[in-house]
Amino acid sequence: MNDTLKWLVHAIVCGVVVALMCAGADFVGMPVGGVKGLAVVVLQLVSIALFWCCVMVALLAAGKWVAGIVVGILMTVGGALGYFRCVWHYSFNASMFDILGAVSKGTTMAMTTWQLVVWTIFAVAVGELAVWVGYRFYSLNYKTWKTWSIVAVAVVAVVLFLRPGGRMYGPLTHRIPLNVVYEYKEYRAGKYEVANVRERLDNVVAPTEDSVLVVFVIGEATRADNLGLNGYWRETTPLLSRREGLVSFENMWTDICYTNGSIPRIMTRADGNNPDRAYSERSFIDLFSQCGMQTAVITNQNIERQYSYFWNEADTLIVVNKGRDVYNYCKWLDEDVIEPYRSVVAGMDEGLVVVHCIGSHWWYKAHYPDNMEHYKPVIHSRIVAECDSMAMVNTYDNTIRYMDWVVNNMIVSLENRKAILIYVSDHGEALGEEGKWLHASDCIGGHRTASFVWLSEKYREARPEVWLKFTEKRDEKIKTDEIYGWIKDMFISSK
Ligand SMILES: [Zn+2]
Repeated sequence: MNDTLKWLVHAIVCGVVVALMCAGADFVGMPVGGVKGLAVVVLQLVSIALFWCCVMVALLAAGKWVAGIVVGILMTVGGALGYFRCVWHYSFNASMFDILGAVSKGTTMAMTTWQLVVWTIFAVAVGELAVWVGYRFYSLNYKTWKTWSIVAVAVVAVVLFLRPGGRMYGPLTHRIPLNVVYEYKEYRAGKYEVANVRERLDNVVAPTEDSVLVVFVIGEATRADNLGLNGYWRETTPLLSRREGLVSFENMWTDICYTNGSIPRIMTRADGNNPDRAYSERSFIDLFSQCGMQTAVITNQNIERQYSYFWNEADTLIVVNKGRDVYNYCKWLDEDVIEPYRSVVAGMDEGLVVVHCIGSHWWYKAHYPDNMEHYKPVIHSRIVAECDSMAMVNTYDNTIRYMDWVVNNMIVSLENRKAILIYVSDHGEALGEEGKWLHASDCIGGHRTASFVWLSEKYREARPEVWLKFTEKRDEKIKTDEIYGWIKDMFISSK
């Protein structure tokens, strides 16, 4: 074997080691059903390994010290994050940078267990061994065009792998260890958005009605058709269906079918004609603040830069379940918002509480407790291609039935108060129509988003005209773009 070939073999060995020791942790516990799913997972891992092999071709050519140091850093980060991922089920995301800045010395010490240290040292040792031993078998000739051509091809391949919008961009940047860089960029972008102060709309003067508590629940991927409330063949909303004072808007429509685009449209004056308002104006949370009312946001999702500004407009911001992301398959439940929600609501006479749920986000099984698995059989693979259609719908419907339980629980805290709860999902979900599943792809199931309001008895008595208006809207075609206007008209007096 000539030296060039040995160099490439060395790069492959190191690349596979980095891929397995780092990104491999993200695949541990990934639900896969059969051969098809296994093939998809293997293909993903091979693609990730191929990327790291290309990186290693260039690094090894840069010399043993450069390769040794970079691999050492990758394996330290990858080893530690892999440990947290596998043992504590913690995924690294942008909110971690805030946590890292805030944790005390004692907490840091408590988290640094001997198992973590031993595993990280082991990961670094394996990486370094792969780098240093390999060098003993060859020496690279830097005087030939062949060596430089191979380096050039590897660098171009790395750039293509990381091309934003490319097929591998998400799988690489969301996985260990590159997720640290990606999440840091997101964190900085979020900070930038929040620091970039937006002008207040100056025509707001006072609340229209004293002492009303408004709870605004943003659902996730709840499609209107699958609600028992809207006549679905299954009773997926047994608790909400029994509620008096509840109106469901069966024909609510969102123009945008993905979270980061849809939420800014719900929260601001933005609409199809003025989409840029979502990124230059404040949300309706600020309308309440301008009237001197208390505001709070409780979120069970990672705060993305597209709406981080709005969440920071609130007096109180509570984030539950930090350390979850879409590549994490363990339980991530909306019941975790209930406790902070109860204490926030108990401390407020009037004002606005926004709750952002994880709702019916894919991987559905993570988003309802096992004892609430009402519809069976359910899916067992995260690879959509090998999931049975009916099992997909069953699993999805379990998340809807769980939403019913969660939101009903929120209503219980408001029963004897002058209060209103408004529920709007950010978008719907495709459930096999035209062969499409999940969301973000354009299909009618994604646009038809669930929405309903519940008014307490006291509030219906105090504002019968509001109740009447909602009942009149029941069958209307409404867009989520109109919600800002609704809220402003209902609760705020303008000049
Ligand atoms: Zn969403």
